[in-house]
Amino acid sequence: MSQREFDLIVIGAGSGGVRAARVAANHGARVAIAEEFRVGGTCVIRGCVPKKLYVLASRFRDAFDDAAGFGWSVEAPRFDWPRLVAAKEKEITRLEGIYAQNLERAGVELIRQRAVVEDGETVRFANGEMARTKTILIATGGAPVMAPRIPGIELAISSNEIFDLPTFPKRLLVIGAGYIAVEFAGVFGRLGSETHMAFRPELPLRGFDLDLRKRLAAAMTEDGVTFHAAAPPIALEKTCRGVLARLGNGAELEVDVVLAATGRRPATAGLGLEQAGARLSGDGAVIVDARARSSAPSIYAVGDVTDRINLTPVAIREGQAFADRLFGGRDVEVDYDSVPSAVFSTPEIGTVGLTEEEATRRFAEVAVFETAFRPMLATLSGRGARVYMKLLVDGASDRVVGAHIFGPEAGEMVQLVAIALRMRATKADFDATMALHPTMAEELVTMRAPARIFRG
Ligand code: NDP
Repeated sequence: MSQREFDLIVIGAGSGGVRAARVAANHGARVAIAEEFRVGGTCVIRGCVPKKLYVLASRFRDAFDDAAGFGWSVEAPRFDWPRLVAAKEKEITRLEGIYAQNLERAGVELIRQRAVVEDGETVRFANGEMARTKTILIATGGAPVMAPRIPGIELAISSNEIFDLPTFPKRLLVIGAGYIAVEFAGVFGRLGSETHMAFRPELPLRGFDLDLRKRLAAAMTEDGVTFHAAAPPIALEKTCRGVLARLGNGAELEVDVVLAATGRRPATAGLGLEQAGARLSGDGAVIVDARARSSAPSIYAVGDVTDRINLTPVAIREGQAFADRLFGGRDVEVDYDSVPSAVFSTPEIGTVGLTEEEATRRFAEVAVFETAFRPMLATLSGRGARVYMKLLVDGASDRVVGAHIFGPEAGEMVQLVAIALRMRATKADFDATMALHPTMAEELVTMRAPARIFRG
């Protein structure tokens, strides 16, 4: 049987891979994309999309409570986990269908099998068939790390499994305090689980601005999540009613489910990359240059598998740029300046640019503007919620080099602030922008006196 030939074979039909495949095909390339699981990748199937749906579901608890302050009487609301899981499944199946349809429309051949690299120009599929190709794009994303390596860690589940738990966990322990940990602790706490978080540092979200970390810890504790800071588990044991976690501070805790939210690792195991000449980092990430090329000339990689900025929109941009460069004759590079990010905790975090700690290390003079206020919704609801915003301004240029928001819709606000930062807006530009009243975002343009000024 003659081997089929392509210009490009993409391995992994997630955000980056699908975009690259479609764009390359639209440029006229003969493209195949291989996927061993479901089309859509982590973001659509078991990441950003279902996570945000669950976050939205969890926030109804607050909405029911708050409604009373505005004159509503709401009967005791009840939550049905299987109904949410089923609704989520319907939606991601719909999205999966759209992804597959878009690939087909672009003329990309979708091969629903695991693929591995045989050499720089050959790919082997799980059914034993081979295909020849001029270029290979690795877009296999990442997979959860089950840590720490303690006795009983196999009793824990990862974020892959938590979406479809057959039974709603009455008691949940989350290990770790990164994005995934705080998001799921917030979701399950609001949906009714007795929720614990056990982690290594004193505060959650290492790497984020310290003021946001402190405020998030306080808000989540007030909301009923129990923090076991500086006390990660040292052992997990099965009991007749669930799992017993022994924590580093001597405490013991019995729960129904333990979620290990302890980072993700590039999914390159067994792909044959090193034999084909593509170098990997110690963590298994494909090492690529600014144009996504690995040390094997015909092998490229985009997205989480390169372990740079592990966010969906970044993978999409990388996939687009790769396809435009190789098949569209366009000399484009991805601009990683001012990448905004959000943590869909409740309250939410939105951040772009430098943290205060980074800014004061980098610039000789940094003016810190901050504001904390009660959102309008909380005035009648009686909720003790506070919104916090911080702008960091380089004293020499007056440029806003960091913006951090903690509160409802922080992600939505920071997406827009990111445009201003990318355009190198100064504090004077912010000040000159008319406020839109009454909004939370207006505070971003009405902060006048710095809370403090650092001079290095
Ligand atoms: P993070 O890197 O954000 O957090 C990992 C957490 O696990 C940290 O609290 C870390 O602790 C802890 N940890 C790691 N190893 C161990 C260990 N051996 N023992 C105990 N604790 C450990 O990873 P996530 O899993 O939360 O998310 C993975 C990636 O997915 C993120 O980096 C992000 O890019 C992406 N993501 C983005 C989201 C968004 O944009 N909203 C949402 C979800 C995921 P320590 O701080 O001590 O190292």
